[in-house]
Amino acid sequence: MRISIAVIFILVIIALITCSVIARHSHKAIGKSVAFLNAAAIPPVIGNLLITLSDDIYISTIGYYFYFIGMNIIMYALINFTINYCKGSIERHKPPFFLFILLFIDTVQLLLNNFFGHAFSLEKTVVDGYAYYKLVPHIGQVFHRIVDYGTVLCVFMIFTIIIIKISRIYREKYSIILISLIVVTIWQTYYIFSRTPVDRSMVGIATFTILVFYFSLYYRPLRLLDRMMTDVISDMPEALYVFDPNDRIIWANNKGYELFDIHDGNLENVPKLMVERFGDVVRNHGNWSAQRTTGFGNDTKFYELENRDLIDRNGKYAGAYFRIDDITEEKLRIKKEMYEATHDRLTGLYTREYLYKQIAETLQNNRDQRYAIIYIDVRNFKIVNDIFGTEFGDYAIKYIADRIRFHSSEKTVYGRLVGDTFGMLAAHDFFDPDLIESELANFRIKKDDIDHPLLVHLGVYEVTDHDMDVSVMFDRAHISLSSIKEEFGTHIAFYDETMKSQILWNQNLSSELDNAINERQIIPYLQPIADPSGNIIGAEALARWNHPKEGFLPPSSFISLFEDNGMIVKLDRYMWRCACEILSRWVEEGKDRFISVNISTKDFYFMDVVSEFKKLVKEFKLDPSRLRIEITETVMVNNTDLMIRILESFKKEGFIVEMDDFGSGYSSLSMLKDIPVDVLKIDMKFLQTSNDREKDLTIMENIINLSEGLGLISLTEGVETEEQYNTLVNMGCKLFQGYYFAKPMPIEDFDSKY
Ligand code: C2E
Ligand code: CA
Ligand code: CA
Repeated sequence: MRISIAVIFILVIIALITCSVIARHSHKAIGKSVAFLNAAAIPPVIGNLLITLSDDIYISTIGYYFYFIGMNIIMYALINFTINYCKGSIERHKPPFFLFILLFIDTVQLLLNNFFGHAFSLEKTVVDGYAYYKLVPHIGQVFHRIVDYGTVLCVFMIFTIIIIKISRIYREKYSIILISLIVVTIWQTYYIFSRTPVDRSMVGIATFTILVFYFSLYYRPLRLLDRMMTDVISDMPEALYVFDPNDRIIWANNKGYELFDIHDGNLENVPKLMVERFGDVVRNHGNWSAQRTTGFGNDTKFYELENRDLIDRNGKYAGAYFRIDDITEEKLRIKKEMYEATHDRLTGLYTREYLYKQIAETLQNNRDQRYAIIYIDVRNFKIVNDIFGTEFGDYAIKYIADRIRFHSSEKTVYGRLVGDTFGMLAAHDFFDPDLIESELANFRIKKDDIDHPLLVHLGVYEVTDHDMDVSVMFDRAHISLSSIKEEFGTHIAFYDETMKSQILWNQNLSSELDNAINERQIIPYLQPIADPSGNIIGAEALARWNHPKEGFLPPSSFISLFEDNGMIVKLDRYMWRCACEILSRWVEEGKDRFISVNISTKDFYFMDVVSEFKKLVKEFKLDPSRLRIEITETVMVNNTDLMIRILESFKKEGFIVEMDDFGSGYSSLSMLKDIPVDVLKIDMKFLQTSNDREKDLTIMENIINLSEGLGLISLTEGVETEEQYNTLVNMGCKLFQGYYFAKPMPIEDFDSKY
């Protein structure tokens, strides 16, 4: 028996060495502490081997020392392993220091037994005819046991607490170790207290460390994985059904029960219910997925169905799982997102990007159809918002959108471009300009007590090339709008090629203005103004542009452009300064003359014209009456009261104000009595050849008389012949300007002539 136990011990030692070495080289984090634990078990086993084999008291004593001190090392290794194994569940990283001290003290007191004999003594018995030294414990041994059992108890506690606290699926990992430890401890205790001659409990301890080796490094708790998977799958938002190879349903997850309202746990009817709801493709074999729609209107639901066959290792059909996913929410979300991305929120019309895309597609798919691109613009819409508020503004936009819908056929694609502009692609035959003109002629927005007329213009570009960029087509349709501007009579403008070059030309000129002023490409020409005796008493300054590329440009080619984009302010300010320069030179030369300068209507919007002029005459030390100011009658139309005040302050400052082009526009004679002007410049149209010369002359005479009556000085423009001049003198006209005296000329010419 002794021999067989010894053989077992030797085998255990070999096993422990092997486990220790393997664990040491394991790449798992727990490897080192497992190796330590297994290595720590070797000395006590050796100790027991010595005790078992020897019949010599000294060797037995050495054996017991190996055994007891080795047990202390095992305790330390056990705590060390426990801490590492439970990492994450407990805070510690190292065994507590006091435990180390405790084990150390125990080791020392055990060693002192050699001198004091307080811990144990050996008692000789005979087993199988051999002497065997059995342990007789004393008080020191009791201390040793308390320390070791105490340590084991701590380990029990740690594992127990973790097992209670941790999620169900991880319990196995800890339970296995705890159970092994309990079994071994009981086994050990049994031997200690049964006092059987040969202590075989060491085998238990070694077995425990080997179990630890296996469980912590190699054992994959399959049940743990299973349980994890089942938990995950059960709670999945998709319904899952598992079928056996005979296509009987054997399992469903929670959602699977819910989907068909199954409460009694009986899955038998599920296949039938599936077919009822989703049709007969359900449960076809193979790997496939499909989408199904059920219900109507707001109850519509979208599902995704998927079947996967399960094939076992031998390639045999092992059943299938079937997945049903309710994708209604996602479908609706995508649909909504699509709608929001492609439709304007206010009007529900296509957004610009989407409109362009749709138009491009329509053009591609209907290559033989003739189309027109229509750019719809509400003029001065900003004013509508400002005056009536955005709520009414939004209402107006929606109303226009409705009218566009109303006028469209199925061959029309339309949308909102941005703000108050809309875009449309209309098949040529469905676009009826006359009809639209008649609707727009008296287009009004009515809401509550607001009834406001809206000026809506359409720019039309006839599509010639179906592949052209849609944005370019709209640019062209837009360009055509500039040809009808603020017009009320015409609402539709058609694009032609000259418009494009006109726009480009305009853009070029605008970008060059600053430079042209700096380089004095733009210069004032002077046209003399005569009195009834033919003496030149002043001049009008008229702008000319000596363009390096375009040549000599008359004002007609740039004034209205700069009036449109507001750049006229720069040009006029410059012209006024030029006039002042000339005047101040004339004053120096002792010439007593005036210069009339033009003020555009726009100038009044963008600057304080009066203070501008005051600054100028101050800077050039001029008598304000030398700088005459020409305003046109249109300036009076919109802001009569404000203009009267402005003109009055001009007069107060000593400037002479002239009403230019009188009679060319909407001027009313009655207006004259209120407007504080000094000179009436009668438009040259009255002198130009017309059907009824007599009538023109009569009007002319009356205007002259009237102005005299109102205390105004009359000036006639466009005097081209001596005859005209004489007639006008006879009518009582006071000032004259026209080719008869001279055309506008450069300053040098003017200076040398007059
Ligand atoms: P306006 O102020 O009515 O200037 C008179 C226009 O009549 C000048 O044309 C002049 O050359 C022309 N004219 C003068 N006598 C005769 C004549 O006997 N027969 C004919 N057929 N025409 C005559 P211009 O220089 O081409 O200027 C055209 C318009 O451009 C001006 O009309 C004025 O409204 C505007 N303009 C010219 N320079 C400026 C400027 O510096 N600032 C602003 N705001 N407008 C300017
Ligand atoms: Ca003028
Ligand atoms: Ca004029």
